[in-house]
Parts: sequence; C-alpha cells; structure tokens
Amino acid sequence: MSTVDSATRRQAIEPREISQESATRLRITWADDRVCDYEAARLRRACPCAQCVNEWTGERTLKPEAISNEVEINDLTIVGRYALNFRWSDGHETGIYSFQYLRDLCDG
Ligand SMILES: [Zn+2]
Repeated sequence: MSTVDSATRRQAIEPREISQESATRLRITWADDRVCDYEAARLRRACPCAQCVNEWTGERTLKPEAISNEVEINDLTIVGRYALNFRWSDGHETGIYSFQYLRDLCDG
C-alpha cells in the first residue's frame, strides 16, 4: 500500500495526542506541534474503505448527502501504529484512516 510507504518516508506524520473533544469532534496534535480539528461528518464522508471508495478507480462511491451532519463517533481505536478506525453512529466501521491520510485531510 502506497500510504504505508509514504508514512515511512515522512517521519513527521505521527500523532502525539489524539483526543475526542465531543461526539462530533476529534483533535489530533501531531509530533511537529500542528493541531488539527476534525468534524465527525467530514471524516465520515472521507471514509477510505472499499464500501465508500472504488478500490480500483479510487472514485468515491459514497454520496456526501447520504451522511447526516449529526453523525457521531461512537468509538475509535488505533490500528497497529499507523491508523485510526472509527465506529460511527450510523453503524459504519470499516474505514481505516492512516495517519498520513488524516494529516492530508487537515493540510488539504
Ligand atoms: Zn467506508
């Protein structure tokens, strides 16, 4: 996976602190002191899993309007040492968000 390669190359992409500020807000403080705030609905719409993105074309099949603005983070876990997995209030839980991807969402 290319995301793992780039994460290895770019050492700075590592969270120092991950805190769930509320049911709809997540804050990540990165090792380089950058602080990023994420809205649950935006993260949910950016889900990179195979149900939400066509694996072969990279095209997003998830429609943004299919996700409620009130979607909440029910749970979040760290996957290995490189990613986060969210359990959403709409029952979805298959997205693996690499730290690199989360950082790109913040910077981009
Ligand atoms: Zn998904």
